[in-house]
Amino acid sequence: MSRILPADGVEFEFTVPVVVIGGGAAGMIAALAAHERGAEVLVLERDALPQGSTALSAGLIPAPGTRWQREAGIADGPERFAADIIAKAKGEPDPAEVARVARAVGPALEWLADRYGLPFSVVDNFTYPGHSARRMHGLPSRSGAELIDRLRGAVEAAGIDVLCEAHVTALYADGPRVRGVEVTRPDGSVERVGCAALVLACNGYGGNKALVERHVPELADALYFGHPGNQGDALLWGQALGAATRHLSGHQGHGSVAHPAGILVTWATVTEGGVQVNTEGKRFSNEAQGYSEQAAVVLRQPQGIAWTVFDERIAAIARQFEDFRQAEAMGAVLGADTPADLARLMKIDADALTATLAEVDRLKAGGGTDGFGRDFAGSAPLVPPYRAVRVTGALFHTQGGLVVDDDARVLDGQGRPLPNLFAAGGAACGVSGSKASGYLSGNGLLTAVALGRIAGMAAAGAAREETSQ
Ligand SMILES: Cc1cc2nc3c(=O)[nH]c(=O)nc-3n(C[C@H](O)[C@H](O)[C@H](O)COP(=O)(O)OP(=O)(O)OC[C@H]3O[C@@H](n4cnc5c(N)ncnc54)[C@H](O)[C@@H]3O)c2cc1C
Repeated sequence: MSRILPADGVEFEFTVPVVVIGGGAAGMIAALAAHERGAEVLVLERDALPQGSTALSAGLIPAPGTRWQREAGIADGPERFAADIIAKAKGEPDPAEVARVARAVGPALEWLADRYGLPFSVVDNFTYPGHSARRMHGLPSRSGAELIDRLRGAVEAAGIDVLCEAHVTALYADGPRVRGVEVTRPDGSVERVGCAALVLACNGYGGNKALVERHVPELADALYFGHPGNQGDALLWGQALGAATRHLSGHQGHGSVAHPAGILVTWATVTEGGVQVNTEGKRFSNEAQGYSEQAAVVLRQPQGIAWTVFDERIAAIARQFEDFRQAEAMGAVLGADTPADLARLMKIDADALTATLAEVDRLKAGGGTDGFGRDFAGSAPLVPPYRAVRVTGALFHTQGGLVVDDDARVLDGQGRPLPNLFAAGGAACGVSGSKASGYLSGNGLLTAVALGRIAGMAAAGAAREETSQ
């Protein structure tokens, strides 16, 4: 479906200066930014209601040096954040790309708060792995559903048109210059919409099995936990127009999706001192490395299943997340006063789990590192009542994509910008490098928010230039 058609001789039903494909966080933010710069904007969204992976996320956005951090006494800044991103991805991402988003995201959140009333606050009671400062920001419910609802509300209040059930099935182009898009409606009818600048905000290729098999083979059979509409259209269109792509094997996995409930269980269950055991009651990894790389590790266990084991203290922290509350409401979180009783509820070997938790206690008491390399120093012991959730590994979203410049303009293979094409969010190459382990928590919404705003502002300028030519 992701075709490029010749624009020559095509009659567009109507033309809008800036068209944005995709109504997730990147698209909504790009639309707000372009509108603020005086451009008429149209957002095209294939679903009946714009939600995207944004609605499925925890809605947590990392940002350094914000006023919310200052109010909480947290010292941080873009250089420090950039260093954390680069360290997690072992030096793979381009430092200029990292600096671009690390600098832009804090001001973007403050802009969304001041101008559009999004009530962000900083998560100041735990640190995500790899972040040297507490810099995750979220809305009151800590849910992506609230994030997208509030963004959609802001877009509607600004009078920006959002056309839903508008599946963009082709771009019209003259060489590398995009002239418009083909929109297919649910009844099969087709409309042609012209544009002066186009923002690709239709995320990555996690929902496209063939592209996942090609680029992320280790998760080819994993549950895809992102939005099914993200079929890699931006990647395929960009490639057909001669765009450069990078790090297509990069992705975010997650080693803690409640199964079969299908609900994300916050990784705070692990970072606060929980562990994962397999169906034999044995630990199998250094869980603290990161939830992204843990997806493939969990999938290698018997039945592709693990149990995350923690305690009520940790559950109380996790309860600030809507997802966790839902998992509890659905009965996915088991509870018992002894490891043996917990094991019976989990239907696994009681002696094995008791021995595993005793060993974890010993390591915590001694402040030692285990055979997998997990450092338990400073980690509080697990105490009754214990909690456990049955989880599996999943693919959340891809991190590779189109290479963009400081204006979020899509670049060609020689590093030259395509005339009027922009990419943001999961459509653009992220800052996670080529491996799951390179994903630092929040890298997804980071590029949606930061590049979304940059792309919107620049697309408004490009549309003005295109129409004045
Ligand atoms: C379960 C889960 C939890 C996550 N938690 C976090 C988190 O806490 N923090 C974080 O930073 N990241 C998180 N992420 C990642 C984050 O959700 C994404 O990186 C981010 O939402 C991407 O935003 P986007 O706007 O690029 O894409 P999306 O929000 O997916 O929006 C893309 C939109 O484009 C539409 N679309 C696609 N193709 C077309 C087409 N051809 N025509 C018309 N419309 C089209 C789709 O329907 C969709 O609505 C999580 C992801 C998942 C799945």
